[in-house]
Amino acid sequence: MRDTVVFESVERELNRQRNNIELIASENFVSEEIMELAGSVLTNKYAEGLPGRRYYGGCVYVDEVENLARDRLKELFGCEHCNVQPHSGAQANTAVYFALLQPGDKVLGMSLADGGHLTHGSPVNYSGKTYDFYSYGVSKETEMIDYDDFREKVETIKPKLVVAGASAYSRIIDFKLMAEIAHENNALFMVDMAHIAGLVAAGLHPSPVPYADIVTSTTHKTLRGPRGGVIMCKEEFAKDIDKAVFPGMQGGPLMHIIAAKAACFYEALQPEFKEYASQIIKNAKALENSLKEEGFRLVADGTDNHLILIDVKASCGITGKKAERLLDEINITANKNAIPFDTEKPFKASGIRVGTPAMTTKGFNEEDFREVGKIIAYRLKNDETDEIKAECLARVKALTDKVTMYQDKTYIK
Ligand code: PLP
Repeated sequence: MRDTVVFESVERELNRQRNNIELIASENFVSEEIMELAGSVLTNKYAEGLPGRRYYGGCVYVDEVENLARDRLKELFGCEHCNVQPHSGAQANTAVYFALLQPGDKVLGMSLADGGHLTHGSPVNYSGKTYDFYSYGVSKETEMIDYDDFREKVETIKPKLVVAGASAYSRIIDFKLMAEIAHENNALFMVDMAHIAGLVAAGLHPSPVPYADIVTSTTHKTLRGPRGGVIMCKEEFAKDIDKAVFPGMQGGPLMHIIAAKAACFYEALQPEFKEYASQIIKNAKALENSLKEEGFRLVADGTDNHLILIDVKASCGITGKKAERLLDEINITANKNAIPFDTEKPFKASGIRVGTPAMTTKGFNEEDFREVGKIIAYRLKNDETDEIKAECLARVKALTDKVTMYQDKTYIK
């Protein structure tokens, strides 16, 4: 008997994804092929181990799939070795720590408050609870990474590992410089490029792969693949990384997701992906300009990549939490986010984070994003009247009606 209750919830989510302007910077819309593979019969298969060295029989075809994923990932980023089994970005980072560190070892990562990720040493995360994490951040003046302060911290703290990469940072990161500083001080250098992986794949953000000992990523953000993680590393770390993923951290790999990752890497290797990634950045610039014209203060004064942090407290006198709700009510989805040196608690926050990857996939161009900026300003700078809400909803609908996504899909049979 079909579980209609859960399918009905999924159908409602499908409609939300169709009708909303999706600005969550870490989200995207996968292709029908990737979705098909993620929902394929490979979900039935146990395949602990690596291709050719499994702990289960019947792995010949899933071996083909995992080898495809590994070969394509190596081609995409030019890494020496990779592991495509981490279930998520958090798992990938945790496996790296497990491979390289002992509990209590010193690590330096970007502060969560300045744009880093929970897994880069937050006290509430496994990383911060297990290792002796220190943090670097952005300068108060520019709100960009303070590389002098970073150098001083590496020199005085002498960490075993330095972690670069961020979840809410809108500027280019100088991985080459950070790697030099880490290596001069005998630290290993790891980059978590989860947010910008698609831009790196397209050659539109400097790649960390030539400089970092280890690079981790998610596959579902700008890379536009299924929800998952990957680890790339220099050959000398290959065995330790593989052992840390399995049997260290995980059991059976999600072979259906690995198939979808293989398709994601295939798509990212096509020339059209470069055009897509370039449009993400053009759209972010258009949104930046539109918001600035409306008088908004943007963290770090704007963006070089796919995301923008808007200081809604300084711009409209409201918290990020309220801005998120006001936008939600007009079918614009974004998330509240702390800004550097925030005076609000993280659950309220002074900022919202907006990104262009998902709506660029749907086909939005610069003109559409200029209008998105104007709608955001109109909604956040005015009182919560029904008239303004209705007007905003109509303007959002006019934009979303122009693009289609998952047109023939339905979960109601
Ligand atoms: N690393 C960075 C930089 C991220 O932004 C994220 C997620 O937002 C992660 C890791 C964690 O990825 P996941 O949610 O797949 O565990």
